[in-house]
Amino acid sequence: MRSGKDLELVTLTKRYGTTVAVDRINYVFENGSYVCLLGPSGCGKSTTLRMIAGHESVSDGSILLDGFDISHLPPAKRGTAMMFQNYALFPHLNVRDNVAFSLRMKGIDRPERHKAANEMLDLVHMTAFADRLPAQLSGGQQQRVALARALVTKPRVLLLDEPLSALDPFLRIKVRAELKRIQRELGITFLHVTHGQDEALALADEIVVMNNAVIEQAGPARSVWNTPRTEFVARFMGGHNVISLNGAKVALRADEVTLGEAGLLATVTSVEYQGAHVAMTSMTDAGEEVLALVPEEQFFQTPKNPGDAVRLAWDEGRVHRLQA
Ligand code: ADP
Repeated sequence: MRSGKDLELVTLTKRYGTTVAVDRINYVFENGSYVCLLGPSGCGKSTTLRMIAGHESVSDGSILLDGFDISHLPPAKRGTAMMFQNYALFPHLNVRDNVAFSLRMKGIDRPERHKAANEMLDLVHMTAFADRLPAQLSGGQQQRVALARALVTKPRVLLLDEPLSALDPFLRIKVRAELKRIQRELGITFLHVTHGQDEALALADEIVVMNNAVIEQAGPARSVWNTPRTEFVARFMGGHNVISLNGAKVALRADEVTLGEAGLLATVTSVEYQGAHVAMTSMTDAGEEVLALVPEEQFFQTPKNPGDAVRLAWDEGRVHRLQA
């Protein structure tokens, strides 16, 4: 059901000279959802986000919010807010004043803007740091302040451009759980750009996969992962084999491949222990590489080594055909 408050892109296009960075994309973002814009470097994700934020002009098409065309409004008037990769906090302002900054620009008086800033600091669990300067905070803490600062304007849509990329892997996982919690608590749309499929799967209600300036596939995270439409999506999401069967390309999940007495003959090329699974790669006689993710206990009942002959099997119903 359309709530009428959705963000909608209509044949949205961005050209830089002869480069088409975003090519006539159409999409309706469901209100209150966590959406990840996922794709390889250069596919047009950031340009799309920057156009929605108003930091980049639109070459063609439009951006609608609440049914209104916001394509040509200044950033502060759109109902969107953006959180940047490098946080961009003011070094001479303390945490509370950083968060309250945009309210000060709007002429909101001090008690009211401090109240709003304190609420946001509470939301991101940074109340105890309100009087510190940014230089006295860790990277993760600065990031929370940047988030509070974006949210203080009460946006309909929060735009996040690779928000976790500056964090170390441990912190990244912690902060991404925080982002999800905050999105749920606020119930607003988060639109998060990432090139990491793990990050998108962990966070998104909905994944929009971009490639070469267009949307290649979009839908609920599980459906994009389970039923990639094209070879590009199957390979980019990972965990799938793309093989030719009867002249057609098909996708087959690596954890659906089993080793047994019967099946397709192949030679093991590599074995990698991954904890819960063993990733075993083998080459079929037809020259196709097949990855099998075998539960570790099962693998070590009859361990295989590179050079061993194996038989690969899978349930025919789990194979699905890819569009060219
Ligand atoms: P992504 O965020 O997916 O990595 P971008 O949206 O940054 O991709 O870039 C999409 C395409 O547009 C790329 O080919 C990039 O080189 C080009 N591009 C982005 N910004 C500019 C710019 N300011 N001037 C010219 N080309 C640009």
